Parts: sequence; structure tokens; C-alpha cells
Amino acid sequence: MTPQRRCEAQRRTQREGISITETRKPIEIISSKEAGIDPGLSTALTFSNGEKINFPKFYRESQKLIGNLQRKCKNSKKVKAKQAKINNQRTNHHHQLSFYIAQRYKMIHWSNDNFNALKRLHGKSYSDVSLGAFRDLLEAKLASRTDGPCSLTKVSCKLSTQTCSSCGATAGPKGLAGLAVREWTCSGCGATHDRDVNAAKVTLFSGQGMSADQGKFISRKL
Ligand SMILES: [Zn+2]
Repeated sequence: MTPQRRCEAQRRTQREGISITETRKPIEIISSKEAGIDPGLSTALTFSNGEKINFPKFYRESQKLIGNLQRKCKNSKKVKAKQAKINNQRTNHHHQLSFYIAQRYKMIHWSNDNFNALKRLHGKSYSDVSLGAFRDLLEAKLASRTDGPCSLTKVSCKLSTQTCSSCGATAGPKGLAGLAVREWTCSGCGATHDRDVNAAKVTLFSGQGMSADQGKFISRKL
């Protein structure tokens, strides 16, 4: 574990000519082996360090071909074989990518979105990325590492989009109207955020024990 550090913020009041030292609740130093991930459909995985990874759209890319096959020969072996091939491609991709991520990070904090609701909303688009299946594979691969504590923790996604990762103010986009907002500026501290990267940072802080409503996030670069 990274040793805790005290973060001291000095505030000078020139008018009174005195110096006041505030001690704020410490946050663990973020190791490069630790990351928050915000999963989604527009971008499959967004990391707290700003990295973004998209999944291939295996089903979408083969949809026309499958449609043609189904019209020509219902229940044919060809259709079933094509669908099985798509499933295999997706599973293979998920295994390789989860292995790669599990080698780079020891601790993953995963924003635990409601996958059933996403599936109802987005149907085939969601099925194509299968984020729940990917999360389970990543969790298993981290757990199988033998070089120290490695794990995936599921973190509530509540307010992760609305909370500013710099100051903790709930100043981000809200409700259905806010779904289209990809970038926003915090009215509390003036920081400009990419929606998904900010959510991933809040997920990381929340996973480290800072609740989203404490409003005490310390501004820093990850
Ligand atoms: Zn802010």
C-alpha cells in the first residue's frame, strides 16, 4: 500500500498579516498500477489517466451478411456457424484485452453501471460490446495474478458523471438532457472535463474510499 501523505494547504491572509495552515483529509498517492474505468457504449472503456479503448463491432459488421443468410436459408447451418464465429471473435477479443489490462494494472476500480438497463436501452449495440462479460473476465484475470494483491472492485456509478473530479462539486451534466454533453466546465473550480474521463477519475477516487459527496477531492494531474 502506498503510505498516506498529509496534504497541507497554506492560506495567507494578507489583511491580517497571519498565516493559517489547513490540514485536509489525505488521499492515497495514485500508483500507475491503479486505475478507474468508466465503461460505456460511445467509448467502451475510459481510464482515469485519459486513455480510451473501443471494442470492435463484430455483430454490427456482420449484420448485413447474417440478414442475407437468414432470408435465403432459415435455420441453416451457415447462419448458426456465422453467429458462433461472431461470438468466438468477441470472446477471443475480450480474453486478449482483459489479459493485457490485467498485466498493466493491479487494482481496477470499475464504475458499476446497470448493464440490464443499458441492454434494454441499446439492444444489439450493447450486446456487441458485452461489457458485463468483459468485466467478469478482467476480474478473473486480476484475481489469478500471483504477484501481490490484485483485484477489480465495483464502484457505484451514482453521481460519477455529475461530480467534478477536481473539487468534488456536483456541477456536471444531469438528467436525460445531459446525456449528450461530452465536455463540461465546473462552475465550482473552473476545470474543464471530458465527461467519461472525469467519471473514471471519480470512480478511482470513490474506489479509494472518498465518497462522491464529500466535496474534498484534491485537484491534481493523474
Ligand atoms: Zn470543480
